[in-house]
Amino acid sequence: MKSYKLFIGGKWIKSVKGETFKSIDPSTGKPIAIFQKGNGEDIEKAVRAAEKALPAWKDTPAPKRGQILFKVAKLLKQNKDQLAKLMTQEMGKVLNEAKGDVQEAIDIFEYMGGEGRRLFGHTVPSELKDKFCMTIRQPLGVVGLISPWNFPIAIPSWKIAPALICGNTVILKPSSDTPFCAVKLIEILTEAGVPAGAVNLVTGPGSTAGTALIKHPRVRAISFTGSKETGKFVTENAGLKKVGLELGGKNPIIIMEDANLKLALEGVLWGAFGTTGQRCTAASRVIIHKSVKEKFEKMLLQSTKKLVLGSGLKKDTDIGPLVNKKAVEKVHHYTLIGKKEGAKLLCGGMPVNRPGYFYKPTIFTEVKPNMKIAQEEIFGPTIAIIPVKNLDEAINVANNVTYGLSSSIYTNDIRNAFIAIEKIEAGLTYVNSSTIGSEVHLPFGGTKDTGNGTREAGWTALEEFSEVKTIYIDYSGRLQKAQSIT
Ligand code: NAD
Repeated sequence: MKSYKLFIGGKWIKSVKGETFKSIDPSTGKPIAIFQKGNGEDIEKAVRAAEKALPAWKDTPAPKRGQILFKVAKLLKQNKDQLAKLMTQEMGKVLNEAKGDVQEAIDIFEYMGGEGRRLFGHTVPSELKDKFCMTIRQPLGVVGLISPWNFPIAIPSWKIAPALICGNTVILKPSSDTPFCAVKLIEILTEAGVPAGAVNLVTGPGSTAGTALIKHPRVRAISFTGSKETGKFVTENAGLKKVGLELGGKNPIIIMEDANLKLALEGVLWGAFGTTGQRCTAASRVIIHKSVKEKFEKMLLQSTKKLVLGSGLKKDTDIGPLVNKKAVEKVHHYTLIGKKEGAKLLCGGMPVNRPGYFYKPTIFTEVKPNMKIAQEEIFGPTIAIIPVKNLDEAINVANNVTYGLSSSIYTNDIRNAFIAIEKIEAGLTYVNSSTIGSEVHLPFGGTKDTGNGTREAGWTALEEFSEVKTIYIDYSGRLQKAQSIT
C-alpha cells in the first residue's frame, strides 16, 4: 500500500515520530493508503517553514499571487475526474457529487485569483481639510486551517484560496478520514507554483496535531470547519488569535399548503439524502403544513424506497455509505432515541447488512419540535417530519434549535416567502429550492451555534483572512487635530 508524507517547507517528509495511520474506503471498510500521524513537533516545524516563507509571499504583488491561483484552478480542472474518483473512494459520496466538490474548489480559486486585482479598501472623506483617509488590507501572518472530511477538496480550498490571496502563509490540518484528498490538493498547489513554505500540510489527529496548531503562540489565526463540540474547544484554546468557526446545522425545509409538492419532494430528497445526509446544510427537518402532510409523506415514502444504496463509483447509486463505522453507530443511536421518544418510524432505521458503512434512508414522522431527533445534528440520512398549523408555528419550530446554518421554504405565496426570509434565524434561506446549493461568490456561514459570525466564500472570506489598516495622510503642512480640538 502506498504511503504519503507531510508537506513542510516545500518538501515531503516523514513525521518526527514516524507514526502512521490508514485512510479507509467506507464502501468496503478496507484501507486505501498510509499517512503520517503528525503531532506537535511537526506543527512546530510547519510554523517555522510558514514564517520563513511569509515575507516573500506577502511582498509578492497580489495580482501575481492571483496568477498562481488561476493556475491551481486550471490544474484542478485537468484533474477533476481523477480527484473526484479518489474522493468517492476515500469518503463515499457519489461520483457526481464528488465532481461538484472539485468544481467548488475550481470556482473558489478562480474567484480568489480575480480578487488579486481587487482586494478593495475604502477611501473616506476626512473631517479636516487637506487630509486624506483610506483603508488597506494586510495579511494576518501564519494561519492554521482545520477542515472536516465531508467536502475534502472544497473546504480546504475555501480556506487556502482566500488566505493565500490576502498574503498569508498557511498550515492545513485536514480530517483523518480524508488525508488522501488533502495530499492531492497540495500536490496541485505545488505544481501551480505556490512557493515552498507558503502552504504546508500536517496530517494527523485533532487531539495532537490539531490542538498544537490551535494553541501555537505564533499562529495568528485559525479557520476551523467541523462539529460544534470541536468548535467550542477551538475557541477555548486559541487564546487571542482571530478564530473563524463554521460548525453544524439542523436545517429545516418548510412546506406550506400552497407549495408545489413535487418540487418540494425533489428538494427534500436532495437535501436530506445527498451526501448521505452528511452535509452541514443537509435538510434534517421537514416542517410541513398539516393539510398536505399525509399526501407529501406518501410521495416521499414512495420515492425514498426507490433510492439505490451502493458504492458511489457505480452509475446507478443514489446514496453512498456513511464515512465510517462510528458514523453508522451515531445514526443508529439516534434511530433508537427517536423510537423511544415516540416518533413514528416510516422507513429505514437500520444499517445495511453488507460490507462498508451503509445505513438505510430513515424517515420519522409525528416528530415533536423538542425531541432530540429534531434538535441535534445526526449527520446521516435521517429526516424528522414535524407537522404545523400555520407559517408562524413553522417559523417558531424552525428557529427552535441552537443551530442556524441553512433553511428553506416551499410556497407560492410571496408574503410567506418574504416573512420566512425575514424571520428564519439562519445564515442562508432558500425559497422554492433545497437547503443546499451555495455558490462560491456569495457569503456562506451560519448564525447562533453554527459559528461565531465569520462567513466563508465571497467577498466576506477576505475579512476572515486579512487585517484592515486605516491610513491618514495630512498634506496641510501643519498640526491639525481631529474632533475640532483647537
Ligand atoms: P470534527 O469536529 O470531528 O473534526 C473537524 C476537524 O477538527 C478535523 O480535522 C479533526 O481532526 C479536527 N479536530 C478534532 N478534534 C480536535 C481538537 N481537539 N483540536 C483541533 N482539531 C481537532 O468534525 P467532522 O466530523 O470532521 O465534520 C463534521 C462536522 O462538520 C459536522 O458537524 C458538520 O455540520 C460540520 N461542517 C460544517 C460546515 C460549515 O461550513 N458550517 C461545513 C462542513 C461540515
